Amino acid sequence: MVKYDAIIIEDSPAVCIRLKEFLQKLDFAKIHVAKNGNDGISAFKEYLESSATPIVFLDYNLPDMDGLSVIAQILDVRPETRVILQTAREKSDEKVREVISYGAYKYLAKPYGFDDVREIINAIAREDEQLGDATKDFEIIRAFLKSHTRVSMAMLTDYTGKKKSDIVTILDDLQKTGAIVKSGSVREISCEKCGTVRVKQFFNCPSCFSYNFKKETVIEHYSCGNISAQRTYKNEQCPECRGLIKMLGVDYRVLENFYVCNDCGDKFPELHWDFRCLHCNNKFGIDQAVWRESTDYKIISV
Ligand SMILES: [Zn+2]
Ligand SMILES: [Zn+2]
Ligand SMILES: [Zn+2]
Repeated sequence: MVKYDAIIIEDSPAVCIRLKEFLQKLDFAKIHVAKNGNDGISAFKEYLESSATPIVFLDYNLPDMDGLSVIAQILDVRPETRVILQTAREKSDEKVREVISYGAYKYLAKPYGFDDVREIINAIAREDEQLGDATKDFEIIRAFLKSHTRVSMAMLTDYTGKKKSDIVTILDDLQKTGAIVKSGSVREISCEKCGTVRVKQFFNCPSCFSYNFKKETVIEHYSCGNISAQRTYKNEQCPECRGLIKMLGVDYRVLENFYVCNDCGDKFPELHWDFRCLHCNNKFGIDQAVWRESTDYKIISV
């Protein structure tokens, strides 16, 4: 089996120790532990200079930045990085899908055990082995299907590099056995320059386009107009005018789920987003995106 390196970005020491033990049992080579997003990202950049891309285990709730922000900053440097996101089990399925669509490779629900981690690492190892053996079309397609719940023809051609005519025969066989089911057609965003659907969505600050941001609850002080994170209002005092905030709705309001940029300090309710082509590295906005239509397949069991 291939030996992997790992970076654990997690602020809970207990979770770190357990995960590190699991990874040691799975024969990982280098394992780095980072307590926050910043440390994790610098460690990631150092790894890239000296060794192969590490697998990143990321806690969604970090003290210094949002999980999404860490994913964006890592994928910005190395788009093919596998980021395994750890978050609480009660998070809804929709949340998970959202996070996966932001570029996380897999999702690990806390609390998790050794077998859960091993399963993910085995899947990665299988994918890597099959990518190495380019002659076995069927195995390549199957490995790709295994790590998805649905795929489109465009995804299959663009991610595997196989011709549509070759893929169709394989998919026909898989349909006959009930392993996959055709489910109409789907429109997907593709690169305006090279046409591939191998694109990733990136979220950033609408003012300075930095990927370094954090989700926060912010307070708006009506009389002076200051908007800043709740934690900056120490002892109920506005950090801008030093006035006291007294009555909710009368002299201040609380805005949940705001984002605060760690670089320029701007606050905003919605993140800006754009796309990055994993093939030609073109960066483009939704307005420039080209929608590509192709057949969609639901994966039952392969
Ligand atoms: Zn492109
Ligand atoms: Zn004020
Ligand atoms: Zn900014």
